[in-house]
Amino acid sequence: MTPATDTETREALVLRRQQLLRADRVNPQPDVRALLADIDFALERCERGTFGICDVCHEDIGAERLAADPLALSCVEHPSRAEVARLQRDLSLARRIQRGLLPGSPGAFPGWDYHYRYQPAGDIGGDFCDVLPNAATGETLVLVGDVAGKGVAASMLMSSLLASARSLSSVGLRPAELLSRVNALFHDTTSPSSYATLAAAVLRPNGDADLYSAGHWPPILKRAHALEPVTIASGLPIGLFPDAKYTATRVRLRPGDTLLFYTDGAIDEDHSAGEESGRRQLGDALTRANGHGLDVLLDGCLADLARVRSGRPATDDLMLFAVRATRGARR
Ligand SMILES: [Zn+2]
Repeated sequence: MTPATDTETREALVLRRQQLLRADRVNPQPDVRALLADIDFALERCERGTFGICDVCHEDIGAERLAADPLALSCVEHPSRAEVARLQRDLSLARRIQRGLLPGSPGAFPGWDYHYRYQPAGDIGGDFCDVLPNAATGETLVLVGDVAGKGVAASMLMSSLLASARSLSSVGLRPAELLSRVNALFHDTTSPSSYATLAAAVLRPNGDADLYSAGHWPPILKRAHALEPVTIASGLPIGLFPDAKYTATRVRLRPGDTLLFYTDGAIDEDHSAGEESGRRQLGDALTRANGHGLDVLLDGCLADLARVRSGRPATDDLMLFAVRATRGARR
């Protein structure tokens, strides 16, 4: 800390002390007394020349951290117990808020049942899904996506992306147009390095599914008796360029047919065998779960992943979203 900032800091502390003393005379409070003691200790540190020095590693605490909290006694690498507790409280609140943004599971909409599992790598993450019914057309738009990155930053971008998709969906925008607008909004309001991949499906009560991809994995399609490859025209990830376009690939599902959407966390875990092996593993789980409920299918996928991980902690957020045609087109 330079002598000039040192003087400024000391003056600011002295001023704050005078204000608190005045407040304490008018209305004595234990909190004010505690704060006064902290300020006296900070002034003592100024006298001793240890103000702004971390108690733990004896390095500079840093101007940014001191500006946020002039009473900080340690650097950002060595937070106090109280700070750690506060951060944990904030994260668990953020986790509850993020869960509240996702749709209920299991659930159903005309012609379809769905079920999903969400496991962020930390307290919160950037993977998401949504189920947006359109009362006017009877269709339902399903979104499954993955904001690049993890943790708090990814979760904030995820909630902003979901909010724009919901508001555009509520005004009845057609899916291709909705995706283009979501892309443009995300591009205009985030940093150039921010992007998200997204799978979208418009599901009709008769079993028709229009599939869209913004740089995301295609879903795995399980017919009543076998897996069937799905190839989708893939558009650009959301947010990379201002004017991306998205086109639909139609598949027709019969009663009992299942689409499984997933994010990187569901296939990346076996680094040695690669992503194709992860996708094959999901296909195997679909085949094994034939004739069972979607919960059995999702449990099977998670058990396979746990086996591949063999005790290693998850390194990526995970979203598995399964949707099954209940009525479907009878042909
Ligand atoms: Zn330190």
